[in-house]
Amino acid sequence: ASVVNRIAAGEVIQRPSAAVKELVENSLDAASTSVSVSVKDGGLKLLLVSDDGHGIRHEDLPILCERHTTSKLSKYEDLQTIKSMGFRGEALASMTYVGHVTVTTITEGQLHGYRVSYRDGVMEHEPKPCAAVKGTQIMVENLFYNMAARRKTLQNSNDDYPKIVDLISRFAVHHMNVNFSCRKYGSNRADVHTIGGSSRLDTIRTVYGASVARDLMEISVSDDNPTRSIFKMEGFISNSNYVAKKTTMILFINDRLVDCTALKRAVELVYSATLPKASKPFIYMSINLPSDHVDVNIHPTKREVSLLNQDSLIDTIQSAIEAKLMSSNS
Ligand code: ADP
Ligand code: MG
Repeated sequence: ASVVNRIAAGEVIQRPSAAVKELVENSLDAASTSVSVSVKDGGLKLLLVSDDGHGIRHEDLPILCERHTTSKLSKYEDLQTIKSMGFRGEALASMTYVGHVTVTTITEGQLHGYRVSYRDGVMEHEPKPCAAVKGTQIMVENLFYNMAARRKTLQNSNDDYPKIVDLISRFAVHHMNVNFSCRKYGSNRADVHTIGGSSRLDTIRTVYGASVARDLMEISVSDDNPTRSIFKMEGFISNSNYVAKKTTMILFINDRLVDCTALKRAVELVYSATLPKASKPFIYMSINLPSDHVDVNIHPTKREVSLLNQDSLIDTIQSAIEAKLMSSNS
């Protein structure tokens, strides 16, 4: 493979947890109700993501890992209104330039599945028929095997497994109807294990612990003022009893896991202004907006988004949180 391809791929997939985010989002896009992740050596040796989604059709396998191959974009204008999380067709391709990717998949109504491995964007062999249950399993081995410096940095830094657990925890809180599990390869004990269907607070309790869930309050705001962006926010925010050194902000906008630094800072500000013995907050927030109000960064590694009418939206959210904190504190 050309060095240019490899470098570009290394930009898209900067660390094992970034690969996991892409794989899990693909599983969610495939309407899975169960997603399990196993990780060996912080993801450098092995990443395995299995789902029970709709699978990948046999005829799509030859080009699956070519750049810009996506089943989620039929015409350019869709970029404006795209609802599903992936729309770039970069992630899987990139993984094949910096790791060894093996896909096992079966689609509805088939008697057997197929298994195929990819390198540098292309299939290594024809898809081989194999036994398969339902959905797709994607295995990434030896991530960054051809990027010695990257591998070394990742090996020296604390391994990426805690980041992966954190990521799956966030997905689990939002996607309540999906069962998630995340474990070190070969271990029976999952570090995240949720069974979909219970209440969101129950999921938070399962994932973050009873002491967190105990200190949370439900919040929701909707703003259907026609002159402003039409949005709905709902979530859970910590009360004055919650104690933490670091903010936990789990933010989903239109069901995408994102970061919005301006919003996070604004929320922290409300806490420090409203609660005298200010602790950093725990926030889970799900915001829905017309999709053309969200500026999703086209660069695939960026989780950061900006929003149309961001200032007024942040004002509205700040007021709602402030009111909630005041009423609970009095
Ligand atoms: P994107 O998600 O942006 O389309 P990806 O490189 O992440 O691009 O994936 C390429 C394509 O592979 C997807 O569009 C989808 O058709 C298919 N795919 C990947 N993972 C799965 C999965 N777990 N289940 C079903 N299809 C999948
Ligand atoms: Mg994707």
